[in-house]
Amino acid sequence: MRNSITGVAGWQKNSFIDFPGTVSTVLFFSGCNLACPYCHNPEIVTAGPSLLVRPDDIASFLEKRKGLIEGVVLSGGEPTLHACLAAAVPEIKELGYRVKLDTNGLLPEVIRSISPDYLALDVKTAPRLYGRLLSSPYADTEQRIASSVEIVRTMGESAEIRITVAPGIVNREIIREIGELVNGVKKAFLQPMKKKGKLLDPAMMEKNPVSEEEIAAYRDILAEYVGECKIRGES
Ligand code: SF4
Repeated sequence: MRNSITGVAGWQKNSFIDFPGTVSTVLFFSGCNLACPYCHNPEIVTAGPSLLVRPDDIASFLEKRKGLIEGVVLSGGEPTLHACLAAAVPEIKELGYRVKLDTNGLLPEVIRSISPDYLALDVKTAPRLYGRLLSSPYADTEQRIASSVEIVRTMGESAEIRITVAPGIVNREIIREIGELVNGVKKAFLQPMKKKGKLLDPAMMEKNPVSEEEIAAYRDILAEYVGECKIRGES
């Protein structure tokens, strides 16, 4: 590869579950422009230079595995913060890989420029609450999220909305607000917060998880607005 992929703090070389229908390699980029209290990747979000994967290792892996692995997942942390992707993604595509982007949607113009083959957009709570609950640094967060949701809408089956169900971050009222926001998208997934390992805010470990019945009620609300809504882990 002519262009380096920098800022990668974690790497899962082979995955059968991160890119629908596609065997992929998953790159976890460092840093994030949000601070979700339930974030289970705090080491990746705060990784310093000594923890980063060598760009040459990624480049030689992608060159050797073309034809064997079909996709590259850009995950994190928040991959859209990394300027290297503007030059690197076209090259990844030239090698024959399909590209999936996992993003919090705060940089919709970068999503457009990457033009992923598959997009997973995390909608975390009602956009009006991103500043208070998730420390969003942007005054126009609501417009940014709406713009990213519009990209998901136009991508049809090649995109999904993901909502992490965390206590204090979503409730029925907020889920309905999210439903109105994502009206018309094809796919949405609810994923219960994982209470293992290290969370960005350790106090989240003490909170009771949202019950299965309540999550099912969220699914029913969202199903009024989207093509299909599933709870991750259910068939
Ligand atoms: S959950 Fe995602 S968006 Fe939130 S802080 Fe962690 S990496 Fe950033």
